[in-house]
Amino acid sequence: YSSKRLSAPFCVYDQSLNSNAAEKVNISALLKQAIELQEFELWYQPIVTMNNQQFYGVEALIRWPRPDGSYFCPSLFIPIAEQTTLINQISTWVMQQVAKDMVYFDSLGLALCIHINLSAMDLHDTQLVKKVSSLIKNNHSSQKVMFEITESAMMIDAEQAKQTMNYIARLGGKFSIDDFGTGFSSLEMLRDLPIQQIKIDRSFIKNIHHQDADLAIVKSVIYLAKHLACSVVAEGIEHQDTSNLIHSLGCDFAQGYFFGKPMPKSELGQILQLPLSSIS
Ligand code: C2E
Ligand code: MG
Ligand code: MG
Ligand code: MG
Repeated sequence: YSSKRLSAPFCVYDQSLNSNAAEKVNISALLKQAIELQEFELWYQPIVTMNNQQFYGVEALIRWPRPDGSYFCPSLFIPIAEQTTLINQISTWVMQQVAKDMVYFDSLGLALCIHINLSAMDLHDTQLVKKVSSLIKNNHSSQKVMFEITESAMMIDAEQAKQTMNYIARLGGKFSIDDFGTGFSSLEMLRDLPIQQIKIDRSFIKNIHHQDADLAIVKSVIYLAKHLACSVVAEGIEHQDTSNLIHSLGCDFAQGYFFGKPMPKSELGQILQLPLSSIS
């Protein structure tokens, strides 16, 4: 597992979660139970506009609490769920939870773009369009949704994934490419799919002050996005100077611990009603 994944907040690496086959079966069984008992929580991390430092939206991130008060790391259990259809059930739960949380955000007078992570398996779930349609169509709220997909999400059957995405786009769904630059065939995706946004992976951002190659890559991705009429988000902003640099390069949005960690929605409600300058 990459260091990025292990450094996530409130993530406890459990030795029992190593990836041998028996453990995977064990975790799958625990996951099944967690789905049935609805043991998950959905947390939200702010995404801000670079221009006027406003809260533009949030990314929904799943949390699986453990009996001792810590959390299983999504980077450990999501890949296991992705090897089965359990991920489809998790995504269904996430979308149902987002539908409920939209009502809560409405009640606070907020109007956010809520980012939802989808997996490759979801794009091959024949029920996905129906689920998304009920999220978008029954939505008389001020909240909007955007789906984050990774480049690897396209690898199973690109044609089917494309069809599903086109359906969802016709329903008014928006797509963002997550962790851009770390997967395969990203340029093909940009050319062939209904993509409105690129999220530059944290691995290109974190050393941008010291690594000329990272700076060159980030500049080029922003340039590419502009020419494709896509917006750009920089992931993993942890410091003011990184925020300033990204802003000066013309990046539209930013996300990272500097602006806010993922948090339960009640906490987010409190923070989003404050001006950003009083937080960071
Ligand atoms: P992701 O979609 O790229 O989400 C961003 C991850 O980076 C989150 O980790 C977030 O907590 C972390 N992060 C954000 N800002 C910073 C920062 O400034 N510094 C550092 N070090 N990390 C930062 P998290 O919540 O542990 O999730 C890890 C991955 O698990 C996600 O990466 C996503 O691929 C997957 N995931 C999480 N929730 C869901 C979900 O509901 N559905 C699906 N399919 N996947 C999910
Ligand atoms: Mg994401
Ligand atoms: Mg990401
Ligand atoms: Mg990333």
